[in-house]
Amino acid sequence: MRITSAIFLWVTVLAAATASSQTQDTLDIYVIDVEGGEATLFVAPSGESMLVDTGWPGFDGRDADRIAAAAQDAGVTRIDHLLVTHFHTDHMGGSAQLADRLPIVNYLDHGTTVDEGARPRAAFDRYVTLRRDASHRTVAPGDLVPIDGLDVHIIAADGAVLTTALPGAGQPNAHCEDFPFHGADILSRYGDAEDQRSVSAVIGFGQFRTVIMGDLTWNKEHPLMCPTNNIGTVDLYLVSHHGSDTSGSDALVQALEPRVAVMNNGPGKGGGPGTFERLGRVPSLEDLWQNHYAVGSADANQPEAFIANLQHFEGSDDDAAVHLDAAYWTHIAATRDGSFTVTNSRNGFSRRYAPRGGR
Ligand SMILES: [Zn+2]
Ligand SMILES: [Zn+2]
Repeated sequence: MRITSAIFLWVTVLAAATASSQTQDTLDIYVIDVEGGEATLFVAPSGESMLVDTGWPGFDGRDADRIAAAAQDAGVTRIDHLLVTHFHTDHMGGSAQLADRLPIVNYLDHGTTVDEGARPRAAFDRYVTLRRDASHRTVAPGDLVPIDGLDVHIIAADGAVLTTALPGAGQPNAHCEDFPFHGADILSRYGDAEDQRSVSAVIGFGQFRTVIMGDLTWNKEHPLMCPTNNIGTVDLYLVSHHGSDTSGSDALVQALEPRVAVMNNGPGKGGGPGTFERLGRVPSLEDLWQNHYAVGSADANQPEAFIANLQHFEGSDDDAAVHLDAAYWTHIAATRDGSFTVTNSRNGFSRRYAPRGGR
């Protein structure tokens, strides 16, 4: 009897140890609802964290609170790396309020804003005050961000993009022919001056790969993806530019061959009908998850189970005039074999995607 209990205990302990090492050996990604801004938290199995963008300022620290809640869920007590894609308020604005809540160790960005005018300059200066007191690095395409257990490659920054392919990439891109440039002067006009300077990164964890590109503009996708695909394929596409129609060309989304896309749109920002259309044409795409119902694309919205926040707020999110009590994130837990599980924190609905293999 004693022997049986001892064996039972031993088996139980072993099972518990296995379960805990399995649950901890994930790359956890939180696509945080910041009402039409961007904030995405990556936590490596080592516990090292990288936050990409900080949402909006104001609203009593609403967005910083939401980021802190995600960090708490992930068991993270500091932000090891804050990667600011570009210096627009919906991406950089929440940094001061966040720094009040969580220590930020390293600041990564593309250097200096090109936006002129008193308000954007003042916002940038506030950000500079933060990074001046910490470690700061201006990144460039080809740089690596050293995070224990992850492969983080910078693929675009300050208007420059990767000119040589990442390992395993560099295939000719069949979707470059007749690339429909936006705007009249295709040689100089890459769209909004700050957006086109967005820092973009490919993040790998074992066989799993994802890409995050801030607001990198449609025309800037061309030198990155044409004539050869410098990124390669990804499992998860974190949809660029809130899903706005001025990013996410076929040359990008088709060549990435994503299995799943998660779009951090606001109710009235991003989530453009063209984005839904183009993603809908990607043969490899199994599911599109949304952080908000997109008011302007009514029929294109995915089934509610795949939408984290359902409020049908009418109007511009640039005002961000709403302070909602409840906000939900989309969570991705990825494993080294390339499989991953996406969960909607509103309803607990989740779906597991088996390893694709063959990469
Ligand atoms: Zn922007
Ligand atoms: Zn933006």
